[in-house]
Amino acid sequence: MAQQYRITLLPGDGIGPEIITVAVQALTVIGKQFDLDFSFQEALIGGSAIDATGSPLPEETLKLCRNSDSVMLAAIGGYKWDSLPRHQRPETGLLGLRAGLGLFANLRPATILPQLVDASTLKREVVEGVDIMVVRELTGGVYFGEPKGVFETESGEQRGVNTMAYRSSEIDRIGKVAFETAQKRGGKLCSVDKANVLEVSQLWRDRITALAADYPEVELSHLYVDNAAMQLVRAPKQFDTIVTGNLFGDILSDAAAMLTGSIGMLPSASLGADGPGVYEPVHGSAPDIAGQDKANPLAQVLSAAMMLRYDLNQPAASDRLEKAVMTVLDQNYRTGDIMSEGMKLVGCQEMSDVLLAAL
Ligand code: ATP
Ligand code: MG
Repeated sequence: MAQQYRITLLPGDGIGPEIITVAVQALTVIGKQFDLDFSFQEALIGGSAIDATGSPLPEETLKLCRNSDSVMLAAIGGYKWDSLPRHQRPETGLLGLRAGLGLFANLRPATILPQLVDASTLKREVVEGVDIMVVRELTGGVYFGEPKGVFETESGEQRGVNTMAYRSSEIDRIGKVAFETAQKRGGKLCSVDKANVLEVSQLWRDRITALAADYPEVELSHLYVDNAAMQLVRAPKQFDTIVTGNLFGDILSDAAAMLTGSIGMLPSASLGADGPGVYEPVHGSAPDIAGQDKANPLAQVLSAAMMLRYDLNQPAASDRLEKAVMTVLDQNYRTGDIMSEGMKLVGCQEMSDVLLAAL
């Protein structure tokens, strides 16, 4: 009997609905090939949820997500909701989803595909062959530590406060995800902190170092975040898997993404202890091109491939989907964001057609 999977789809805003459709079509084909029975259920999040219900994350959406095997999210936000107060914006729906599902690990690959080397702003010899996975802690650190706020001092001055804090259990669980990820990849893990200045970073370094004993086949190194930023731009090929806290991970994963120069190609996964993960492109809702059939759906498709690998444990199906993406690039099909001379410019729908043909 076919293996059954319930997938919640969160199309969101902007180009979201266009690109998630392509991933669903691709998964449907993959399902037939690998005898996987996907049932898709759609739910509201972000700006479109605000318009329909007044809330960026309706209770119903969270419930559906919790009751599914995996969640595929497209993109959230747009000009229309930019003037709302911060706590009512579409993006708060995403924070609520992460918290509601306990997603503490964010995995962001930055891979330079041979077909797109020239999209990078760095020299070919620097970026060719780069294949990095950034594992970012997502629910702790300075974004959530207490105390936080803007307080009045005794002298009547205002004082803004955030607190970078990690408990050992929080470091251990993200560390385990990182070591296991490194084990499945190139076997190298670089932990990034600021242990020369920050006490919280010293604890981070100690715990990660202690964990290494459980993973003798993974080669562990440590870098201070300033040096890591420099090395990432200077010689990115030295990295395999990087693990770091919430703030440093936010910055380094964007820097790593920009090495590739192709925002429309980058997937991500956010994982919890158990229960469904959330799979989404790194890019935003691209309101400037929404509804024009110009969006690159491949980051969404590669996110679906990550879902097959990490949540559904179907590595062969994941490989097949990734290979189909390579095939359409080898056939020189390009959406506008990755277009270069001599290539064939296609829209979102045509990219979908050639991808399905490749599958
Ligand atoms: P967010 O704050 O949600 O990350 P953003 O404004 O930082 O959003 P994006 O929405 O990712 O950034 O858009 C940045 C630029 O990249 C835009 O010009 C957009 O059109 C382009 N872009 C983003 N994603 C894609 C895609 N999948 N295909 C084509 N172009 C894209
Ligand atoms: Mg952005």
